[in-house]
Amino acid sequence: MKRIAIGGIIHETHTFAPDRTGLEAFAQQTLVEGDALLQRMRDTPTSLGGSIEGLAQSGYVPVPLLYAAATPSGMVKREAYETLLNQFLARLRAALPVDGVLLSLHGAMVAEGFDDCEGDILARIRVVVGAGCPIVSTLDMHGNVSPAMLANSDVLVAFDQNPHLDTYERGYEGAVIMRRIIGDGLRPTAAYAHPPLLLSALTTWTEQPPLRPMHIRAQEMERDPRVVNVSVLGGFAYADTPFSGVSAIVTTDNDPALADAYARELAHIAWEHRDAAGYKGLAVDDAMHRALNAMRGPVVLADVGDNIGGGTPGDGTVLLQALLDAGERARSVAMIITDPEAVTHAVQAGTGAQFEMLVGGKCDTWHGQPIWLRGVVERLTDGRYHIEGKDHFAQLYGRDVNMGLCAVVRCGGVRVLLNERKTPPGDLAQLRSQGIIPEQQHIIVAKSAVAFRGAYGPIAAEIYEVDTPGLCSADLSRFPYQKLARPIYPLDRP
Ligand SMILES: [Zn+2]
Repeated sequence: MKRIAIGGIIHETHTFAPDRTGLEAFAQQTLVEGDALLQRMRDTPTSLGGSIEGLAQSGYVPVPLLYAAATPSGMVKREAYETLLNQFLARLRAALPVDGVLLSLHGAMVAEGFDDCEGDILARIRVVVGAGCPIVSTLDMHGNVSPAMLANSDVLVAFDQNPHLDTYERGYEGAVIMRRIIGDGLRPTAAYAHPPLLLSALTTWTEQPPLRPMHIRAQEMERDPRVVNVSVLGGFAYADTPFSGVSAIVTTDNDPALADAYARELAHIAWEHRDAAGYKGLAVDDAMHRALNAMRGPVVLADVGDNIGGGTPGDGTVLLQALLDAGERARSVAMIITDPEAVTHAVQAGTGAQFEMLVGGKCDTWHGQPIWLRGVVERLTDGRYHIEGKDHFAQLYGRDVNMGLCAVVRCGGVRVLLNERKTPPGDLAQLRSQGIIPEQQHIIVAKSAVAFRGAYGPIAAEIYEVDTPGLCSADLSRFPYQKLARPIYPLDRP
């Protein structure tokens, strides 16, 4: 029986965000080891869930090490990173010998003193298992790919879709590739190319250029029998590293020249479509006008600047202020603001009581001012829900989500869901569990750039991406890059 070590450490790190990410952020989200890993992640719509099933189909035995995931946020503390990695490696050493290592990593994790956590994780694993042991990892397509990641792995398989609705399938694919290496003598040879192109979160939607034409060509390449996998990564522009930006990884069966040629071709396609990197969405006034006058709902307004899945605090007030300013024209509106202090105030007031206090805009100066919210506490809950669809963010929590205590405050036609823990809008159960029926809203604000489309795309009458200020602004010139490789488009236009 072949034994395959499984696990991973996942974080998408916004290096410009003022907060720091400690061990408690992982413990609060997902931090499981040994058998608890299998119990938590088996049958979940995650890459690890797909890998576990794929290994079972091959008759391989998964050896669960450690899986840790936290919501995107600021720089990971050195101590947290080293603690997680050392625990992972200790379990790996104790599990030896293993026939392979199958991982779920992100690709854009940065810790204090470590610009390239995934490169470091893979290198440290390679030292433990030796050169002959295959290492296969899935990556988020927002990963920033480094030379160390390629050098210390056999195959890297990135999600093809943004919203990430193919996490399970890519994890399963990783397990199939592992079986081909061990059972069929596949000799994976990878190459990658990194065009000088930096994409905002908004422009990494895989249905639009520049990623769409890259994927169309990648799918053709994957039909070539010499090719094992083609991965197109949009990268994560809000992590300031020397590797940030678009990349393509091509893995062949022992054909390095072909891998290199295909990777370069994909980089060229990205460069040809570089103009699309300048798209920033609609101005707030324009989006509000269109939404308020829409004849059918739900109209989904994407709060692009306060994109929780990109590491922002989820307390941006710019669209809330605009909706409150609209008065009676705003009817059946739902939006979420993360503000633990406001939740406590609502809980103390109680259901049915008047609510009045400053909410939101408290974490930093990027996402608007705190604003007075006056209304009635309509509902209080424990903030737990079970994912009903294929949540883009399932990687973070498996299947059960905990937003912390929640309060729904109604102010005229606007209902504000106040929660304690920022939670990206990846599933309709988030609102439904709080008594807000998404399909019946006229306007829904989603604090997201692209990921919300997975859940809200199918029910939306219209979608407007709004150029709001914030840490995930589509205007990358606002960020003080220091480590990024230059020149890079669109910051440095040739
Ligand atoms: Zn992603």
